[in-house]
Amino acid sequence: MGWTRIAGFEDARSMIVVFIGPPGAGKGTQSRRLVEYLRVPHLSTGDMLRKAKAEKDPVGALAAGFMDRGQLVPDAIVMEVVGHRLEHPECQNGCLFDGFPRTLGQAASLDEYLRTHNRRISVVLELAAAEEELIARMKRRALTENRVDDTPETIHERMIVYERQTSPLLKYYRERGLLESVNAMRSPDEVFQDIQSRIEARRGS
Ligand code: AMP
Repeated sequence: MGWTRIAGFEDARSMIVVFIGPPGAGKGTQSRRLVEYLRVPHLSTGDMLRKAKAEKDPVGALAAGFMDRGQLVPDAIVMEVVGHRLEHPECQNGCLFDGFPRTLGQAASLDEYLRTHNRRISVVLELAAAEEELIARMKRRALTENRVDDTPETIHERMIVYERQTSPLLKYYRERGLLESVNAMRSPDEVFQDIQSRIEARRGS
């Protein structure tokens, strides 16, 4: 049994971080930097689902249609994918969730999972940005990354999905004292510095 598994005691270095933000807010970029800084695994459900889709495994086939339309993949499929990763020993010392949870159902499942494993979320980071800026960023990204879900129609759909299904999580985590809202409408370096200082403040508390 590792230190982090002892009831009521968490290694100060072991952090479970959740990133929430609308499409285009820079979650991918910031979370890649943060995993290097924290030295924890990066659990991006978007990446996991894209991989499953590319490898044409059964989960990927189920998820593909939802992803291409810019809709959320059903919770049961997402929990199946995440559950496998969480069981992995590399996640025992913390991890960074990027794009997960995205619904209140997923948040409740994650809480339940962590509770039964004597773990808890350390901090939830919201990357906040104005919608017009996000749409402009995503159009630029569509040109460089060639993502099938970055067409004008799916960008619009993903914004609506974020508002309806994911933004209620902000209240959920604020009420639990876990939310840090970071202004994402700055340079990537400025945003990252802000994230770092909030992480350090939480680590010290
Ligand atoms: P992302 O790269 O995080 O923007 O995710 C790309 C797409 O994968 C989303 O538009 C959804 O279709 C799907 N997806 C990723 N994460 C989740 C999740 N936690 N719940 C449901 N669908 C997800």
